[in-house]
Amino acid sequence: MAKRDYYEVLGVSRNADKDELKKAYRKLAIQYHPDKNPNNKAAEEKFKEAAEAYEVLSDADKRARYDRFGHAGVEQGGGGFHGSGGMTMDDIFRQFGNIFGDGGSPFDAFFGGGGGGQAGGAVQKGSNIRIKINLDLEDIEKGVSKKIKVKKRIRCTTCNGTGAKDSSSVKTCSNCQGSGYVRQIKNTFLGQMQTTGPCPVCHGKGKTITAHCNTCRGEGTTMGEDTIDIDIPAGMEDGMQLSMRGKGNAGPNQGPAGDLLISIEVNPHKHFTRDGQNIIYDLFVNFADVALGNSVNVPTLNSEVKIKIPAGTQSGKIFRLSGKGLPSVNSYGKGDQLIYVNVWTPKELTSEEKAILEKMRQSPNFVPKPGQNPKGFFDRMKEYFNG
Ligand SMILES: [Zn+2]
Ligand SMILES: [Zn+2]
Repeated sequence: MAKRDYYEVLGVSRNADKDELKKAYRKLAIQYHPDKNPNNKAAEEKFKEAAEAYEVLSDADKRARYDRFGHAGVEQGGGGFHGSGGMTMDDIFRQFGNIFGDGGSPFDAFFGGGGGGQAGGAVQKGSNIRIKINLDLEDIEKGVSKKIKVKKRIRCTTCNGTGAKDSSSVKTCSNCQGSGYVRQIKNTFLGQMQTTGPCPVCHGKGKTITAHCNTCRGEGTTMGEDTIDIDIPAGMEDGMQLSMRGKGNAGPNQGPAGDLLISIEVNPHKHFTRDGQNIIYDLFVNFADVALGNSVNVPTLNSEVKIKIPAGTQSGKIFRLSGKGLPSVNSYGKGDQLIYVNVWTPKELTSEEKAILEKMRQSPNFVPKPGQNPKGFFDRMKEYFNG
């Protein structure tokens, strides 16, 4: 049977561009698809004919030869079809992967089915590992590097992750003849369609293993341990998560490693409680300190400072140490250290102390006068310099 003109087969003009060719071919591929035309030899021939026409015309080189020399140009050249039988169904389905995008299932791509395996490379990723790291506020202030030992699956060193005993135990997959693809039946809105997908036996690799590595039993990974340097930025907060790509479990059979996910937990501090970027320090002083004034030592995150308590300081007063708080992961600048003044009330008193206090209780200056104690200029200046 004489071959029909490729342009005629696809129903396009000789000037048709790539898009027109693709559109025309898709239409025919759907129309004559074997699954829509079961046991219809004529439809199968049309299907193959269209595939062959598209195969030639979509290739600029082959198309040029075809335009000059006709069918002879593409049959004799190095890039022509092998033998006289034209394309096999397998050739056609394999070709779909290239025609309809990078997915292995062309009909997914153009029926909007989505998904679809990656033909030829359905590798399995290793699983993620979650760990918890406890930080002190001091670590959070400066940021910290931690060396953490993680037990995890690592690539088998005996077989370098292939899972094979040796090179002679790697064989071409008999399920897919080494292509990594198999045909699958998929349900689409046009009914059942045949598509290609990764071979389930070799997972798209095209190879199978006849004898497994004794160390990993063919998995390609073994249990091991890894020491990981983790750089933790300053300003972390409780519950935040860091992730390190590729530091999780090694993937089976040379698949990529999963990620290491690090949850941050902040340890309680012996001096401070955290309020966002600020840290709060409860200062306890006695009545004489606030009535007469005093200087007291107050711890900060990285040292100690002396602060002055002015005479007449009320309980509940807050002093502010500017910039002595914590940085933020997301912004510049630091929070403050807030010092809450708590006047300590004695729980036990000697009779002598009691006598003094009894005497003071009667004194006019000891009568509370809230609101009648406006801060003077010097008070405010002192607070400013303390704060
Ligand atoms: Zn191994
Ligand atoms: Zn296979």
